[in-house]
Amino acid sequence: MTQSVHYTAEHELFRTSVRRFLESECLPHIDRWRTQGKMDRDIWLKAAAGGFICTKVSPDYGGGGGDLWHCAIVLEEQTRLGLAELTFYLHSDIIAPYIELYGTDAQKQRYLPPMSRGEVITAIAMTEPGAGSDLQGISTRARREGDHYLLTGQKVFISNAQNAELIVVAAKTDADAGGKGISLFLVETQGAEGFRLGRNLKKIGCKAQDSSELFFDNVRVPAENLLGGVEGRGFVQLVQRLPEERLIMAVSAVASAEAAVEETIAYTKERIVFGQRLIDFQNTRFKLAEAKTTATIARAYLNRSIDRFIEGDFDATDGAMVKWWTTERCFQAIDECLQLHGGYGYMQDSSITRRYADMRLGRIAGGTNEIMKDLIGRTL
Ligand SMILES: Cc1cc2nc3c(=O)[nH]c(=O)nc-3n(C[C@H](O)[C@H](O)[C@H](O)COP(=O)(O)OP(=O)(O)OC[C@H]3O[C@@H](n4cnc5c(N)ncnc54)[C@H](O)[C@@H]3O)c2cc1C
Repeated sequence: MTQSVHYTAEHELFRTSVRRFLESECLPHIDRWRTQGKMDRDIWLKAAAGGFICTKVSPDYGGGGGDLWHCAIVLEEQTRLGLAELTFYLHSDIIAPYIELYGTDAQKQRYLPPMSRGEVITAIAMTEPGAGSDLQGISTRARREGDHYLLTGQKVFISNAQNAELIVVAAKTDADAGGKGISLFLVETQGAEGFRLGRNLKKIGCKAQDSSELFFDNVRVPAENLLGGVEGRGFVQLVQRLPEERLIMAVSAVASAEAAVEETIAYTKERIVFGQRLIDFQNTRFKLAEAKTTATIARAYLNRSIDRFIEGDFDATDGAMVKWWTTERCFQAIDECLQLHGGYGYMQDSSITRRYADMRLGRIAGGTNEIMKDLIGRTL
C-alpha cells in the first residue's frame, strides 16, 4: 500500500473502483479518442456517476469531499494504464477549486453542482500566443460596460476547451496595473456572441486531450461572473493555485516512470539479443537499476509532498521544486527505458513511446521548468 500518513484503506478501495472504471469505460475507447483528438462528452457523466470527478469538492456542492490523495489516485491509475492524458484532473482538481475557494456563493451554487455531475465541463485559459511564461504580459482585455464586461483577445493551447461549456478566462481589467490588473472570468461559451473555438491543435503526445485556440471579440460576460466579484485578484488567485497544480503534474510524472520501469523489465526479460535475454546484459541491468532508483526517490518525494500539502505545509517553492525535479528526472528515466526497447521504442503505438511523448509535456506545461528554477532561485 502507498506509504503516506494520510493514505487510508478507504483510499485503497477508491483506487480499486477507479481502476475498474478506467479499464471498462475508458481503455476500450482511447484509440478513438486519440484519433478524434478529444474525449467523448458522455464519459464525464459516467465518471461523475461513479464518483471519480470533483472528488475534493465539498459534498455541499455534490463533490466527494475527499483530499489530494483521491485526485492522485485517479491520475496514478490513469497513468499506469497509459491514459495520463484524460483531463478529469484538470476539471476536478485544478479548475473546481478556483470556484470553490474564490467564487461568490452564487457562483459556487450555480457551477459546482453541475460540474460535480459531469454536466458542465470546464477549461482554464491563461496562455496567449504572445504570453505564456510571462502571465502578466497577457493582452486579453475585459472592459466594463454597465452590468457586463466585454472580453476581447485570444488564447492558445487551452486543454479541454472542445467540450467545455465553462471557461475560466484570465483578462486584464486594468491594462496599466501589471499583475494587479488581471481578473478571472467565468465565461459560459454556449451561444456566446463573439466567442469562437479555433483549431484543435495537433500534438506529439496526449492526443486524447484537446488543445485549442480561443477567440474573444467583445464577448459579453455578466459582471456577476467576475470570479469572487472583485477586480484585480486574478493574478494572486492563479499564483496561489499553482503549487497544487504543479504537484498534480508530479503525480503523473512519477506514476509514468514507475510504469515505464515495470514495462521495460518485462520487455527486456522477453527480448532475446545475441542469444541471450536483454536483461542479462549488465548495461541493461545498470540502466534499469538507475531508472528504478529514480522512480523510487521520486515516489518518496511525491508522497511526502502530498502529505505536506494535505497538512497545509506546502508553498510555491515546494510546488516548483517537486514539479521540475520529478518531470525532468522521471522523463530521463522514461527515455532510458525507451532506449532499451530499440526500434520498437520509436513506434507510435508502443506504450513506452506514448509515455515518452506524453511526459515530455511535464517539463513545459503548468509553468516551464526554467520558470520553476527561476521561482526557486528568487527565494535563495
Ligand atoms: C499540451 C498543452 C496544454 C496546455 N494547457 C493549457 C491550458 O489548459 N491553459 C493554459 O492557460 N495554458 C495551457 N498550456 C500552456 C502552457 O502553460 C505554456 O505553454 C507554458 O506556460 C509556456 O508558455 P509558452 O508556451 O508561451 O512558452 P514561452 O513562455 O514562450 O517560453 C519559451 C521558452 O523560454 C523559456 N523562458 C521563458 N521565460 C524565461 C525566463 N524568464 N528565464 C528563462 N527562460 C525562460 C521557457 O522556459 C521556454 O523554454 C498548455 C500547453 C501545452 C503544450
